Amino acid sequence: MLMKRRNIFSIIGSLVTFLVFTSFLYAKEQAEVQVGAEKLAKNIYMLSDSGGMGNTTVLTGDDGVLMIDTKVEASVDKLLAKIAELSEKPVRFAVITHWHFDHTGGNEKVAKTGAAIIAHENVRKQMGIEHDMKIFNEKVPPASEIALPLLTYKNEITFHMDGEEVRVFHLESGHTDGDSVTFFKNANVISMGDLYFEGLYPYICIYSGGSINGMIKVINQILPMIDENTKVVPGHGPLSNKDKLQQYVSMLIVIRDNVSRLMQEGKTMDEVIAAKPTQAFDEKWGKGFLPPDKFAGLVYMDLSPELP
Ligand SMILES: [Zn+2]
Repeated sequence: MLMKRRNIFSIIGSLVTFLVFTSFLYAKEQAEVQVGAEKLAKNIYMLSDSGGMGNTTVLTGDDGVLMIDTKVEASVDKLLAKIAELSEKPVRFAVITHWHFDHTGGNEKVAKTGAAIIAHENVRKQMGIEHDMKIFNEKVPPASEIALPLLTYKNEITFHMDGEEVRVFHLESGHTDGDSVTFFKNANVISMGDLYFEGLYPYICIYSGGSINGMIKVINQILPMIDENTKVVPGHGPLSNKDKLQQYVSMLIVIRDNVSRLMQEGKTMDEVIAAKPTQAFDEKWGKGFLPPDKFAGLVYMDLSPELP
């Protein structure tokens, strides 16, 4: 048991080292990071940066700007500069998809411009408390008051602006316990946050309510809401569509079932990883943020009855 726990710690340790290292590199290289805009509809854009920290969706128009996620503190100035190129109007609303640093890091700066930060109620809870992440060997302090969501919702909130009906909703815990999905009804664009990583194995925040089963359930509820023309914005990775989202959830289901079967056979985490439960998908999904063994370890921990 002790051995098993040590292994779990080492997997988590390398995950965290990777995350910290990535964010450190990212902060350092901000001078070179470029923010690009891809037009999805007449007044909706997907903004991505060359630092690989994910996507933002922006709605523009006479009523002002609505943006999704503020990304990292170090890049928010560039993000706001790009938005200013797209619209002369101020940012009125920033919808936050979940509490992670690479989605909320610019909240304070965006809020200081006068925009209202909006999120699921659990995002405010998660951001407002200190996370004593023993496993990460790190304490994450509460966010400043101004960075916290000014407005929170429980199930759904709709914005009527810029000729759009913008439906922001929470189904259940998936990537975290406070995920928001945003559907731009008229333009047929959906912004998924980190429920969806396109072309790379997803991080699942098992320490704030996330689970692979939750992710699968949420995506299976979203698929019938969209059609083959819907533009799907993943939290990380290139612009996508319904077919690719379907492939993503199919991949999650097979890997979940493979890991679960190996666990039922009584295999330890090391044995599960050695059995390569992700192998059929590694060519396409295993070259990103989480390599195959780390993702298999994460799914094992997620499906374990007790979290380390
Ligand atoms: Zn995340």
